Amino acid sequence: MSDVGFFENDFYDLTISALNGFVGNEFNLEVAIKREDQIDTFVSGNKFRKLKYNLIEAQNLRQKTLLTFGGAFSNHIAATARAGQRCGFKTIGVIRGEELGITLDQTLQQNPTLKFAYECGMQFEFVTRKAYREKESAAFNQMLKEQFGDFYSIPEGGTNALAVKGCKEILSENTKDFDYIACAVGTGGTIAGIVEASLPHQKVLGFPALKGDFLNAEIKKYTSKANWELINTYHFGGYAKVNEELVQFINDFKKQHGIQLDPVYTGKMMFGLTDLMRNGFFSKNTRILAVHTGGLQGIAGMNAKLSKKGYPQII
Ligand SMILES: *Cc1c(COP(=O)(O)O)cnc(C)c1O
Repeated sequence: MSDVGFFENDFYDLTISALNGFVGNEFNLEVAIKREDQIDTFVSGNKFRKLKYNLIEAQNLRQKTLLTFGGAFSNHIAATARAGQRCGFKTIGVIRGEELGITLDQTLQQNPTLKFAYECGMQFEFVTRKAYREKESAAFNQMLKEQFGDFYSIPEGGTNALAVKGCKEILSENTKDFDYIACAVGTGGTIAGIVEASLPHQKVLGFPALKGDFLNAEIKKYTSKANWELINTYHFGGYAKVNEELVQFINDFKKQHGIQLDPVYTGKMMFGLTDLMRNGFFSKNTRILAVHTGGLQGIAGMNAKLSKKGYPQII
């Protein structure tokens, strides 16, 4: 029997910490960060928000199995595996392009995200990048149904209408005095929910973690409001691409504020936000809330990649 009690905590009152001594002091900017990363180590930040109403729906439909899709270092895969384990669902992860030519054991040794998901009981279906691109097709879905039986399907990155509904809960009474809300963007579900919950005087700034002209259209599927903008200049070359400057920024930020950022999403968002503040993007006395959407489980996998390249580590 599934039990989604884990998702019944609304976490509206998570810490909002002021970031003192931040750049842009000459503009008297007030900057704070909402610690969605503190929800749970693995069902972290926006992934908790996105899964919440999906798991409640799966339980209402009496589904026993969750099936979802993701890359091999995906925060969404880790979160779904852990949430399924906590709530009593079987979980299946359709994983893009790993374990091809090596054994599952070897894959798990090299990949802390998949190792974690495996230990939570997730069963994997590894597919080629080509097959992965066809994952929305009726034929692929039929193949999955034949192999795994009935399941509740959650899209890649977790974004659907129920996910957007959950992400509205990132904002609350405690966030209504901010002028700007900043968040990282992957598939766009999180920013859509934040925009939907935002007040007319607030503007939402999204920092895409990848190059993607499609994102504006994706976000517009879930909100018709117009008080948002994507800042497309801080993706560092693409999804999960990093350089030494970004790693240094993440390490410095932790030293200065005691807050760990992740290299794929929140590090890029905070780097971009800092740059905008330094360059006079915001008018004097603006109050800015940055949303820490979590994702810290990805650091171990990134560090393994960085050390292969001889780059400094995220500490
Ligand atoms: C998945 C993720 C995002 C992106 O969320 P979308 O809803 O896909 O835009 C942002 N930050 C973190 C830490 C994430 O894991």
